[in-house]
Amino acid sequence: MTTNPLIAIIGGGPGGLMLARLLNVRGVAATVFERDAHADERPQGGSLDLHAETGQRAMRAAGLEHEFSAEARPEDQGDRLYDADGTLLFDRDGTGDDRPEIDRTALRRILLESLPVGTVRWASGVEAIRSGADGRYEVDTGGFVESFDIVVGADGAWSRVRSLLSSARPEYEGVTLVELGFDTQRHPGVDALVGSGKMFAIGDDRVLIGQRNGHGHIRGYVGARMSETAALALAGLPAEHVRAEMLRVFAGWAPSLLDLIETGDVLAVRPLHALPIGHRWATRQGLTLLGDAAHLMSPFGGEGVNLALADAMDLADALVSGEGWPAVARYEAAMTERAIPAAEGAAEGLHATVSTGGVATVLDHYRSRVQPVA
Ligand SMILES: Cc1cc2nc3c(=O)[nH]c(=O)nc-3n(C[C@H](O)[C@H](O)[C@H](O)COP(=O)(O)OP(=O)(O)OC[C@H]3O[C@@H](n4cnc5c(N)ncnc54)[C@H](O)[C@@H]3O)c2cc1C
Repeated sequence: MTTNPLIAIIGGGPGGLMLARLLNVRGVAATVFERDAHADERPQGGSLDLHAETGQRAMRAAGLEHEFSAEARPEDQGDRLYDADGTLLFDRDGTGDDRPEIDRTALRRILLESLPVGTVRWASGVEAIRSGADGRYEVDTGGFVESFDIVVGADGAWSRVRSLLSSARPEYEGVTLVELGFDTQRHPGVDALVGSGKMFAIGDDRVLIGQRNGHGHIRGYVGARMSETAALALAGLPAEHVRAEMLRVFAGWAPSLLDLIETGDVLAVRPLHALPIGHRWATRQGLTLLGDAAHLMSPFGGEGVNLALADAMDLADALVSGEGWPAVARYEAAMTERAIPAAEGAAEGLHATVSTGGVATVLDHYRSRVQPVA
């Protein structure tokens, strides 16, 4: 590694922006290539809870703990569980938990505002990365080509950078979520159902999730088992057809729960994919990965963004260590090991929740968290 390597970070999600920030506070510049045309091009998705040892620690390392506290919602850590008849089986307000929620848009804004102007190249979708004759990597954004010593793939589930390091592809997990949006003023029934945080309603092979976001918004997720072909067909339908199909799948559920499907704005259809657990690659000078690009997993463990932020912290340490690429190779090995239990937990959580008898399993899980077995 040269003294002042030119660093490209592909992807301006939480992981890529955190890496740029952590390098910047240590006086190392990096360029972030982001496909979105600007910060508000698309809704960034629902609320995220940042965990003490990963997400929150990264915010502190980045010197952004005050900005985080100003936006975080510690009051929104509650859990509710309903069965398909609408019976409330579990209700806890989350007092004493240390996993404050923050809206994804707010997190992205905090990170963006912490970076020097021009760090992020918007509307710069990377189409190819090639080895150049000078030992550098050429980053091609569709006609415009620039060379870098180090390229970090922070480009999420369908990472282009990953394909230079490994042949692994995310696999469909058999469950698809339809994402819904609500405004609490217009949807008082949904507001009351969700409580102070997250609610799950679980029936055989189906789940309804409501998640409180900031500024009077609620996100909903309607999840069901279906084939990949059915998921792709659903994703191609107009919003009202998606709603009708989900109402068919959830026929017989309590009207209070069906209200979510009937009234929410259909925002997206998200088939859930995951990389093989323990995904690793032979280290290659100048190229590495972080976050979902390295260890995509289902959101049922609630760890994805936390791992992406922790990866950024550890990779920044490796890049500024002065030890060269062996430090990055150590980062890759440790990052892979750290992601394994999280990915196992995410797969287990998904398949236990969206299953026959899932409601009993999740109820046991919640009860064991508040009444630890002696
Ligand atoms: C429905 C859902 C709910 C979730 N809930 C939670 C939760 O509660 N808690 C949690 O911890 N995690 C959650 N996750 C997971 C979390 O969103 C991810 O783990 C996290 O966003 C990963 O961050 P990242 O920076 O690695 O990748 P991403 O957030 O995917 O960011 C990648 C960025 O790269 C850009 N990009 C992609 N390709 C290119 C390209 N070729 N050129 C340039 N730019 C490119 C994208 O536009 C994007 O901005 C959830 C995920 C989903 C789908």
